Amino acid sequence: MSDEQTVLIAGMGPAGLVAGLILTRAGIPVRIFEAEEVLPTDLRASTFHPPTLDMLAELGVADLLVADGLKAPTYQWRDRMTGDAATFDLGCLEGQTAYPFRLQCEQFKLTRVAAQMLEAEPLATLQFGWAASTVTQDEGGVTLTLSAKDGTTRTERGAYLIGADGASSAVRRALDIPFEGFTYAEQWVVASTPVDFAETIPNLAPVTYTADAEEWFVLLRTKDLWRVLIPVAEDADAEEVMSDAFIEAKLQGIAPHDGPYPIAHRTIYRVHQRVAETYRVGRAAIAGDAAHINNPLGGMGMNGGIHDAVNLAHKLVRVIQDGADADAMLDHYSKQRRAIAEEYVLTHTHQNKQVIEEKDPDKRAAHLARMKEVAATPDALLAYVRKGAMLDAVEKSMAVDPA
Ligand SMILES: Cc1cc2nc3c(=O)[nH]c(=O)nc-3n(C[C@H](O)[C@H](O)[C@H](O)COP(=O)(O)OP(=O)(O)OC[C@H]3O[C@@H](n4cnc5c(N)ncnc54)[C@H](O)[C@@H]3O)c2cc1C
Repeated sequence: MSDEQTVLIAGMGPAGLVAGLILTRAGIPVRIFEAEEVLPTDLRASTFHPPTLDMLAELGVADLLVADGLKAPTYQWRDRMTGDAATFDLGCLEGQTAYPFRLQCEQFKLTRVAAQMLEAEPLATLQFGWAASTVTQDEGGVTLTLSAKDGTTRTERGAYLIGADGASSAVRRALDIPFEGFTYAEQWVVASTPVDFAETIPNLAPVTYTADAEEWFVLLRTKDLWRVLIPVAEDADAEEVMSDAFIEAKLQGIAPHDGPYPIAHRTIYRVHQRVAETYRVGRAAIAGDAAHINNPLGGMGMNGGIHDAVNLAHKLVRVIQDGADADAMLDHYSKQRRAIAEEYVLTHTHQNKQVIEEKDPDKRAAHLARMKEVAATPDALLAYVRKGAMLDAVEKSMAVDPA
């Protein structure tokens, strides 16, 4: 395999590393560049859906994550005012996936293990401290310019380029791809604590979405911590809402605890719903947050990004090794995965946002009553859980070859 068949990848997040693993394991050389000096370990996604685990199992990664994570067999919609809950049991997916549960596991555990596996692959080169900046293309390949923090620049040449460099993707900007959508008004605060909310909140599932007119919240259990997501005002002062006093008051409001809550991590961010106008230009394609970003209600951002990476990497294998038509394959990738981001991921996560913040108590009660009926009706439960677990989205959008 010559250098001209090398795939360049910008970004060592879940999307870039998963694409790198599939390509090298298929015998295709990859060079992966990460802007940071080390792999980021900040508090980000923590949910792996069943079909994502099925995909990661093919790379020998899923069981390592399962061993290092927490199996969540159920998730819930709750009402803050009434304490009422509808609980969905993912056990109904038995037989449709090898992993009939949500795996609660921090995304840095995936990137850490995937990077280690790639370090051991002779066909992979991983380089830290190099940020993708500009992209030029000709008939024979793609040239990527990289910059170091000290201002040094250099170029790399490859047959194809994957821009997996996150929401502010330099590759997407270099390709001049519009990233339309909107930003939610409020800011989102995430805090994590070792205090066990299940001891104070009765009948609490490991993943819960609690609706309220003013103070909705999400509780997510990971192996060692509970993570709490709450909205704060658009103009809230970041220092104030990240303070011990503010977070303590919010957590005590969610579940009274004897003594102050120890806080393990805290972060604040703004949330967007955006999808790129196209996922490919010539020999360059974008994947993951570079291509689509959405709110975390449903845990679909990282999962969708991994699905992009798997789809794109398998198509590049067909192009490079089997001589499949590159234009047709990359257009197919863009069409399949863009449609699923727009019609499914953005729609589903935005609907979740509307439900969780519903101001009318009657509408909230009606939604919960519907959800309880779904949870108690096997066919309806399976259909609902398949959608939430992204199985339907995967079934529609992962065919490698165009029909
Ligand atoms: C603060 C925050 C909290 C989040 N919380 C949740 C959550 O609770 N639940 C959920 O489902 N999702 C959450 N997400 C979204 C989730 O983390 C992303 O969907 C997921 O990380 C996307 O993976 P990715 O590989 O596409 O991009 P990323 O994980 O962003 O990886 C991109 C990588 O590229 C690197 N990079 C950036 N620019 C360049 C460049 N020019 N050249 C080379 N490398 C570059 C970055 O350093 C990074 O390592 C959160 C995101 C953020 C930012």
